[in-house]
Amino acid sequence: MEIGELFTSYIRVLALAALVIYGYAWTVRIIVRRSSRSVMVGLLFGLGGVLSMNDPLVVGPGLIYDARSILLVLSPIYAGPVGTVIAAMMMGIYRLSLGGIGATGVASVFLVPLIGYACTLIRRYRMRAGLGRSLLLGFATVSSFIGVAFLPWDIAEGIFLNSVAPIMLANILGVLLLADLLEREKQRIQIVRALENEASVDPLTKLPNRRVFQRAADRCAEAASSQGRPFSIIMLDIDHFKKINDTWGHHVGDTVLSKVADLIRQAVRKTDIAARYGGEEIVVLLPDTTEGDASTVAEKIRHAIEAEDLMVDNVSIRITVSIGVSGGSSEIVATMEAADRALYRAKTSGRNCVELANAA
Ligand code: GH3
Ligand code: MG
Ligand code: MG
Repeated sequence: MEIGELFTSYIRVLALAALVIYGYAWTVRIIVRRSSRSVMVGLLFGLGGVLSMNDPLVVGPGLIYDARSILLVLSPIYAGPVGTVIAAMMMGIYRLSLGGIGATGVASVFLVPLIGYACTLIRRYRMRAGLGRSLLLGFATVSSFIGVAFLPWDIAEGIFLNSVAPIMLANILGVLLLADLLEREKQRIQIVRALENEASVDPLTKLPNRRVFQRAADRCAEAASSQGRPFSIIMLDIDHFKKINDTWGHHVGDTVLSKVADLIRQAVRKTDIAARYGGEEIVVLLPDTTEGDASTVAEKIRHAIEAEDLMVDNVSIRITVSIGVSGGSSEIVATMEAADRALYRAKTSGRNCVELANAA
């Protein structure tokens, strides 16, 4: 094989790698479910391999060079087991349809990811993403030359000396580059996810924060208004919370607050959104719920909190909450204000009770 030919083929591999990385970044960003993501990345790697096999470098009779091995050896790490099987099947079937020494080509399609997977097992103990792992995986792609072993020796010897060495070098460089870019993309997405989580979740109660709530409430009110469906707001404030802090200290107050958040989370539906609204104020958005139904939920929350013996640092603490409930159909600001006024009434009428905004 000419060095010029190898270089041209290598550029094609890199161009394809760039497309695969773009698709990988898109997939990981859009698809949150692990299993669906694995399938999509597998399809993407498989498609990349098939496209590359469609435009290969013919090394010898029935022996072709393409980006297959590079993608396959990295599949177990970035596509997971299901994705790897999908990618290998796609490439295996396509390799069979190409003919030549297809059987060994197909065998190598399964052998390369298996060896790649073995490398990930080693990584679990000592190999992290980086130069060492990429070198190891690059060398592992040599298993794609299994086909050469089945050729008569006089042909195999020539192919081995003239082709295996440069191709292996190209594969090692390809794996280094592809793994580096994939790893950067993966880390970038992980950092973005962590920052997004930090910006939307209250660290003490693990409830969404006020900003997330506001966005969800706006969306809910809009949908309710256009579809003529009801929604409700529950606004809750812990009674005499200052006393808890003053008596047992701020850290006990913090634990009480997070336990109250847990009780509220347990009392509402999955479609409801409970959020930390202020200091010790929690608000719940209940889509498709009338004020009457929301008051039943509010009463359930109030009772659950009143009945719970909150053990913090071996101290038995009992607390109560006051709740305001308001049903709305379009105007979110007005509904929130009405819930707030109802909460104020609950406070002034003795606390530990639920007040409705539109009560007759
Ligand atoms: P009321 O029944 O009228 O609501 O009485 P209250 O004592 O609960 O009300 P007030 O608004 O006077 O006090 C709220 C207290 O909540 C004051 C503040 O220090 C405390 N607080 C707010 N956020 C936190 C928090 O994150 N952790 C702790 N430990 N305390 C908090
Ligand atoms: Mg309070
Ligand atoms: Mg308060």
